[in-house]
Amino acid sequence: MSGHRGEVNGWACDTCGESTYVVHVDDGTTPMFLGCRASAGVCPGRGVSMMYPRGPVPDHVRRAVAWEWYEPGDRERRRRRRREPETYQHVEMGGLLLRPLTRAGRDALDGLPPPEEPPDRPPEGAVRRALRGIAGGRR
Ligand SMILES: [Zn+2]
Repeated sequence: MSGHRGEVNGWACDTCGESTYVVHVDDGTTPMFLGCRASAGVCPGRGVSMMYPRGPVPDHVRRAVAWEWYEPGDRERRRRRRREPETYQHVEMGGLLLRPLTRAGRDALDGLPPPEEPPDRPPEGAVRRALRGIAGGRR
């Protein structure tokens, strides 16, 4: 599993029952277990991956995303190589790093498909085509 760019996943805490939701800014791998970040940093629990559920992301999940997975750039890699060799190794193996939501993460959330389409509304393109047909019928 090394894709996931633009996707949202949750890690459900085994202690407080809340979930830590994270959006992917980049492709890469993420851990099965994640220290709980859902309860403002006070929960000692461990989140378990929801394994990237298929389908649209519900609104309440979107609103709860406070973190993003990202691939560090060259400068950050070099810095971590010197100071945090384990983290550097993790990144070299395709692992992503976690940080609080930034502009990049918010953009990724904005790019998600809408949570649900109202069932009886025709696609926008069809409406436009129909209107164009009416307006420009005799040109
Ligand atoms: Zn927790």
